[in-house]
Amino acid sequence: MFDLKGRVAVVTGGNGGIGLGMARGLARAGARVVVAARNADKSKSAVSELKSLGSDALAISVDVTNEKSVNDMAAAVAEQCGRLDILVNNSGINIRVPPQDMALEQWRQVIDVNLTGAFLCAKAAHPHMKRTGAGKVINIGSMLSIFGAAYAPAYAASKGGIVQLTKSQAVAWAKDNIQVNALLPGWIDTELTKKAREQVDGLHDRVLARTPAGRWGVPADFEGVAVFLASSASDFITGSAFAIDGGYSSLG
Ligand code: NDP
Repeated sequence: MFDLKGRVAVVTGGNGGIGLGMARGLARAGARVVVAARNADKSKSAVSELKSLGSDALAISVDVTNEKSVNDMAAAVAEQCGRLDILVNNSGINIRVPPQDMALEQWRQVIDVNLTGAFLCAKAAHPHMKRTGAGKVINIGSMLSIFGAAYAPAYAASKGGIVQLTKSQAVAWAKDNIQVNALLPGWIDTELTKKAREQVDGLHDRVLARTPAGRWGVPADFEGVAVFLASSASDFITGSAFAIDGGYSSLG
């Protein structure tokens, strides 16, 4: 039920953090993982780690904000791997500025990577999934898909948008046997939040106090759920958003 042998999985931003966590899970379950990101050195080291887990992994460079780059990436996956079964839309950035001070360019940058990137990658993957008669898309949201934050207006808008994009893709592509779901991570220890902890005073301790599980999440917390949503175990689940947050969003 959880076996991914013979499947090809593209993980955007799969060269570090949560993306690499999910890539490890998919690799262990037997998928051929394509690491799709910009930083070639990081991608190379991710690929060699995934190979050591038994995946015939490869890296294909992509800028998810650029439609041609995304279409070229999907075409290269189809050419080099023969198929594209699983897409994890994980690439994401944040620029921490309150709404009244945010420049239009900063707003666009965040929306382009987090929301438009997910739209473009799924659009490019859809014909390949339709051709093989099945597909799985996993979109990465955030606690800011649910809550607001004074310092992250574009990020919250993009991650709220991810949940609605997920539902629309799920409804549109159910007839193609493509399931689309979202994961909403709580506070996870990665490069992205290392920067947040430097920029936001007291963040580390506030997160600990607010998280019922009593710890920050780690990329390994995403291995199992990525396999679940990428495998036939989840064939009747589509359009859902799952908090992976140690109870953070359940605490009133
Ligand atoms: P990282 O900064 O470690 O990873 C982000 C990834 O996005 C990098 O691998 C980066 O690769 C890739 N990326 C950024 N811009 C682009 C681009 N234009 N094109 C292609 N890839 C791009 O962060 P996390 O692992 O923490 O975050 C992963 C996802 O999880 C994001 O969507 C984030 O918003 C979300 N998330 C994280 C939380 C956390 O607590 N860490 C909480 C909630 C959500 P490269 O630079 O090589 O292109």
